[in-house]
Amino acid sequence: MRIRLVLALLPVVGAFQLPFKIPFFSQSVQQPLVQPANSRPKIAIIGAGAGGASAAFWIAKAKERFGGIDEVEVDVYDKNSYIGGRTVVYPYDDSTNFSAVELGASIFVKANKNIWRAVDEFNLTRRDFRDENGMGIWDGEKLLFTTSGGWWSWWDSAKALLRYGFHSPRRTQQFVDSMIDKFLTLYAPDAPKWDNITHLSSSLNWTDLVSQSTSEYLQSQGVSNKFISELVEASTRVNYGQNADKIHALEGACSLAPTGASSVEGGNFQVFEQFLKRSQANVYLNTSVNSITPTTANQWVLDSDRGSETYTAIILAAPYHSTKIRVPTDISSRIPPQPYVHLHVTLLSTTQPSVPAQSFSLPSSTKIPAMLLTTFEGARNGGKEPEFNSLSYHGLISEGEWVVKIFSKKRISNKWLSKMFDNQVGWVLRKEWDAYPVLPPTSSFPDVKLAPNFYYVNSFEPFISTMETQTLASRNVVDMLLKDSFDSGICGPAGTPLNDTEKEDYVFGWDC
Ligand SMILES: Cc1cc2nc3c(=O)[nH]c(=O)nc-3n(C[C@H](O)[C@H](O)[C@H](O)COP(=O)(O)OP(=O)(O)OC[C@H]3O[C@@H](n4cnc5c(N)ncnc54)[C@H](O)[C@@H]3O)c2cc1C
Repeated sequence: MRIRLVLALLPVVGAFQLPFKIPFFSQSVQQPLVQPANSRPKIAIIGAGAGGASAAFWIAKAKERFGGIDEVEVDVYDKNSYIGGRTVVYPYDDSTNFSAVELGASIFVKANKNIWRAVDEFNLTRRDFRDENGMGIWDGEKLLFTTSGGWWSWWDSAKALLRYGFHSPRRTQQFVDSMIDKFLTLYAPDAPKWDNITHLSSSLNWTDLVSQSTSEYLQSQGVSNKFISELVEASTRVNYGQNADKIHALEGACSLAPTGASSVEGGNFQVFEQFLKRSQANVYLNTSVNSITPTTANQWVLDSDRGSETYTAIILAAPYHSTKIRVPTDISSRIPPQPYVHLHVTLLSTTQPSVPAQSFSLPSSTKIPAMLLTTFEGARNGGKEPEFNSLSYHGLISEGEWVVKIFSKKRISNKWLSKMFDNQVGWVLRKEWDAYPVLPPTSSFPDVKLAPNFYYVNSFEPFISTMETQTLASRNVVDMLLKDSFDSGICGPAGTPLNDTEKEDYVFGWDC
């Protein structure tokens, strides 16, 4: 989950002519590598998603600012053929006639200052997330609550007031606002730096939030069970595929913080593509990293599909357990197992302007909203669980044809789609993701630094898991790496005054 300044485009490495010769976006490299004497520092970043692409960008930003590290070379590896970790698709696989539809992460919000700023600086186009055609909450058998406006408008709708009263929405709003206020300190000139996420959590006064489920925490704040099991759970299920009584309250608050919800026209991956382009790192796509082993000279040998290479430092920017990278046991033992929510995404086009009411066995006069969210409450009380976490219309793709996105725990069959949309289904595309970490209440997190000069960006994910927070986690890791190896932080050597601290909408990492 998911704040604006337009600056002149910064030539990120223009001030330093770096000795980078390998073209941007090498698709794969066939020639065997000659292992050169490691005469200048080299950093390997594994993963070209939000975490890895932004890590390369932060290093470039530091190079731009001060000398001493301008000789550092950065290699980014990704086993995918594309940048961004998530991708877009085109209805009917036709990019000429149809616009891109996000298959993975779609939304960032105004409090996500790194991505918001990147969109402005990189001249990308931000698109408001529009869902004004109504929102409803389905429990598997009944439509419990609907608004004629969008999901984001429920807070102050008269209908919400009638159903949930005044105090529960108000207290929930205060809880979310206070979380956002703390979150924004991560961009301030004196932004915290952390080598331990438990300590960070404590310094932000979030220990109570991460150690309790969203339901427990909100109940303790006097929020009613009805409000929690309906509106709050609808948002934890659509954003994280988890119920409010299972997911910790910090992530619960993040799923309730939609102000300024936006996406990038043409696909959010462009932000990460630009991060890498501006970093001038060497990018190796279609290249799996297979193992990382230490050398006796305190360096790391990385074995990938392109051969072996020696590095001064490693930044792992992918969920370790899914990478299948072999590392020494004293490193792997420091990363606790982390289950992920396995999510089925089904995209389809339909000529039905909304799901027909009879598909839900409701009277034909019932108007089914364009965004259907769900609660587990029916199943808790012995009913059946909804077949989907969310089902939402995402606008017209051509005259009289809409695109719909369904998130579900299980595969959605063609038979179910036909039944649901009264046989009016055109294009269908399915994708499975290990989408987000399972986020139960906790008090411990993986280490940020796994060994000397070996850093783990995704240690942040069990705390908060979004595209933006991965850019914050990578900023922190890069700052730590620069301090460890170059006696300098992301904003310069210790003691260097920070620039522009009085600037309106200052963003640490961009403006220092
Ligand atoms: C359907 C869906 C919807 C979502 N919605 C949102 C949303 O609306 N807003 C939001 O902020 N977040 C959302 N998220 C979560 C968001 O996508 C993640 O938090 C974020 O992308 C994680 O970034 P990352 O860089 O850590 O990991 P990833 O994006 O997973 O990147 C890791 C990269 O590492 C590469 N890799 C892995 N192993 C190896 C290896 N051995 N060698 C080389 N490369 C390797 C992978 O190919 C991948 O590209 C959503 C996720 C999904 C799946």
